Amino acid sequence: MYANVVCTRVPPLDGLLREDHANPIGFAKARELADKANAPTAVVPEIVNSRKGSASALLLAATELRDKSKCQGCLGKGTVSRRTTNGTTTGDGYGPTAYREVTEKCRSCNGSLLNKPEKLSAYLERVVVALNSLNAADPKAKHARSFAKDLLEQFAASRGSADALNPAAITAVTGTDPKRGRCVAFVGTLRADIELDGRMDRLIMVDVLGTETAIAITLPEIVDGGAGDTVLVGGQLRGVVGTESGPVGVLQGGFVLKR
Ligand SMILES: [Zn+2]
Repeated sequence: MYANVVCTRVPPLDGLLREDHANPIGFAKARELADKANAPTAVVPEIVNSRKGSASALLLAATELRDKSKCQGCLGKGTVSRRTTNGTTTGDGYGPTAYREVTEKCRSCNGSLLNKPEKLSAYLERVVVALNSLNAADPKAKHARSFAKDLLEQFAASRGSADALNPAAITAVTGTDPKRGRCVAFVGTLRADIELDGRMDRLIMVDVLGTETAIAITLPEIVDGGAGDTVLVGGQLRGVVGTESGPVGVLQGGFVLKR
């Protein structure tokens, strides 16, 4: 459906990435870089979404994320209890068998409390697609967006989400076969949120947690967070641009939410 992404060098983006990783870019610096930041969005064309999606599709996708992102083995508790005989019987040996409850660490998620990474990616992708195609004229659109935001924030609070999502996000961007339109979701540190003058857009740069890889977000649907915040990000891959620091994925739509 989508053509593969061609990696084009975007020198202006190098300026953004050379900044000290430990320090988020301040407002003044962000203004200075705003013009340069137009470059990556010009190089990778916008994905055209139908905007005919219903609010109920978004409500459904968000509910599914809430209900199924938990480990299905322990339902998000981290432990499983089972009844076991304690090896003895009551009375004369003919009475009812004595049981005891044994609680063990869940082996399905190994304590992460979350469903398998590929499942999480699939549920988040459905939310991103529903958000990016949401018809604003749907009477329930506003409600659906705020409902989705709440459930995404609940998911963002999951401790293991970075470990579960980030490896696949890195592969999607730096791998040999990045697919345009595909959802990329990860946890990172918000480095800069730059308003692009004269355009209905902004460029948000987020460093993928625990790596030197930065990912850019354009045309986000929901943003709640500022520079230095740890955020959960999800968006459609619009393209990959080349920089001195390596390939940088450019996402479109979706969300950037403080953890
Ligand atoms: Zn579990």
